[in-house]
Amino acid sequence: MSKCDDEPVKILGAGISGLSTAITLARNGLNVEVFEKSLHAGGRFKRDFQGLSNFGNLGIDSLKEFEKLGIYLKPYKKLMKIIRCSQSHSFEVFSDDKPIYYSVLRGENKNSIDSQFVTMAINLGVDIRFNIKFNPNDVNIVATGPYSGDSLAYGELYEDTNIDESGYAFLDKRYSPSGYLYVIPGERNGEAEIVNYSSDPSVDIKTLKLLYNRAVKENDILKDILDGATRKSTRGGIGCCSLLDEPFQNNRYYVGEAAGLQDVTAGFGIRYAIISGYLAAQSVLAGKNYSQLISKTFKPQLEFERKRSENFKKLTNREIDKIFQAINEKFGHEITVEEYESMRGEI
Ligand SMILES: Cc1cc2nc3c(=O)[nH]c(=O)nc-3n(C[C@H](O)[C@H](O)[C@H](O)COP(=O)(O)OP(=O)(O)OC[C@H]3O[C@@H](n4cnc5c(N)ncnc54)[C@H](O)[C@@H]3O)c2cc1C
Repeated sequence: MSKCDDEPVKILGAGISGLSTAITLARNGLNVEVFEKSLHAGGRFKRDFQGLSNFGNLGIDSLKEFEKLGIYLKPYKKLMKIIRCSQSHSFEVFSDDKPIYYSVLRGENKNSIDSQFVTMAINLGVDIRFNIKFNPNDVNIVATGPYSGDSLAYGELYEDTNIDESGYAFLDKRYSPSGYLYVIPGERNGEAEIVNYSSDPSVDIKTLKLLYNRAVKENDILKDILDGATRKSTRGGIGCCSLLDEPFQNNRYYVGEAAGLQDVTAGFGIRYAIISGYLAAQSVLAGKNYSQLISKTFKPQLEFERKRSENFKKLTNREIDKIFQAINEKFGHEITVEEYESMRGEI
């Protein structure tokens, strides 16, 4: 398709990748229609708390990176400390100035980044229709989220926890085979979300939930955080980490997780979704080769993450403990983001 077409550009899915595409196209004068099957943007999320990674990107601040693309987002919190734990060791990654993660809301809530995207899009004249079925063959951009499941997440939201302002990541294969379990402080005081993530193909959602329950019963740190807390709701879903050979095919652009853009190690996809949406729009506007743009922009990072994930899969808990112990010996218990980045290939 080219920008000379009179017809509106049709986008399937009002998640962050679809709306990122819509915003860029509308800002450049194109008519855009977005069709969303749910009643709200980011249909599979219900006030989920997610972390927008802010390290490992050549020191570039994630929010500033999006601002350069004309996308302005407000996180609900900045995470300045992450506590990483193996079965028997731990270290704290801290930052004095730049957040390690921006915490963002997803889904239905009015403060979610999905809602922020909707406001930006509507202000630019994008026509978003919710609660509608539309034939994928009749759209120009497919932004419908994961096309298959390479990874799984199961989690719960709690109130009245004893969480401080830190995030936690547990690398313990007894509970999270080929994955990790994380705790992220919520929007309101005492709220926390705990999520178990796995990219082990033999782990189904029932098993992941069982392992989650075991972790919150057995892990002393989790027990302390949850002492006196109330469970409010569950969350989770699949992740698609297999990049399509051709993200532009049959005259259609595939963006975000519909193109398989997610990093398999951590299950992060926000940055990929927003930037791929922008690149698809650039391709529509300037006739650039989208598949090549995606490959150039993301392939090295995706390959790095795949290798990291494969190495991690081979490690036993004892070997992970040894790496954590070596980190403790080299840096102490508190390490800076820069020190953490210097050994990220290992763990
Ligand atoms: C539990 C969980 C936790 C996560 N945590 C993080 C995190 O901390 N950090 C991070 O970076 N990433 C995280 N991710 C990944 C991140 O959420 C995704 O990679 C990102 O949302 C992908 O954006 P997207 O636009 O491709 O898809 P989505 O955000 O899923 O948007 C797809 C949209 O398309 C709609 N849709 C689907 N099918 C149709 C259809 N047939 N017709 C019309 N509309 C349709 C959906 O309702 C939805 O609104 C997490 C994922 C999960 C499941």
